[in-house]
Amino acid sequence: MDSTLLIPVFKKIIFFLLILPLFVGGFLVGKNYFAPTDTGAPPYVIEDLTPPDPDPFEWLNTWTRPEGPARVGLQVGHWKNNELPEELERLRGNTGASAAGKSEWEVNYAIAEETKNILAEKNIIVDILPSTVPPRYWADVFVAIHADGSTDRSASGFKIAAPRRDFSGNAIDLVEFITETYGAETKLLFDDNISRNMTGYYAFAWWRYEHAVHPKTASVILETGFLTNANDRKIIVNRPEVSAKGLANGIIKYLTSKELL
Ligand SMILES: [Zn+2]
Repeated sequence: MDSTLLIPVFKKIIFFLLILPLFVGGFLVGKNYFAPTDTGAPPYVIEDLTPPDPDPFEWLNTWTRPEGPARVGLQVGHWKNNELPEELERLRGNTGASAAGKSEWEVNYAIAEETKNILAEKNIIVDILPSTVPPRYWADVFVAIHADGSTDRSASGFKIAAPRRDFSGNAIDLVEFITETYGAETKLLFDDNISRNMTGYYAFAWWRYEHAVHPKTASVILETGFLTNANDRKIIVNRPEVSAKGLANGIIKYLTSKELL
């Protein structure tokens, strides 16, 4: 065979090899083979994404009271105020009322101690607490004990209030019992000038502060009388045991009504 006859055949093969990549490339483009895998869009899959809880306080519905005897927390208003934690720093300087040589905390403390003595006789566990409430403090009853002050020396009477937002569902019952028994023992009149300082008391705000009551603690704040009023002082300063009896009786009635005594 004449080798010169092979030259056109070689030319055809070489031509075919040269255009082959164009066919293959066209086929792959048609199959989207060269489409970019990273489009710059954010990833669509987040493995551990759980939907938000529709009710953040739902866990309260299944809460059950710890076993054990009735427990009561008596907070001595303004006591050890300067030891308040950082989250309550702004209250450190709030030393409360003072009159006739008495600081409010001393009056509150005497009433708290006498109340504790009465309750302890009923085998109730009593915690005397300073301004700083232990984190999420739980008890069947929590009473913040205070005394009022006013530039108007004729202002007189006691006040009691439940939290503006009460998750225990029982604070209003506690208010009713103590209002009745405290008035009966002390003969002081009920003063209904309840302020936002009372219903929004810091120790009630467990959703805001760590050092606050547990949401299921039935909590109230009691203004025992006016430290700036001479007549009120005859009870709250001179006879703290009378105030204490009024407060303790209300707590006992409340605990009895809830079958905790
Ligand atoms: Zn006070």
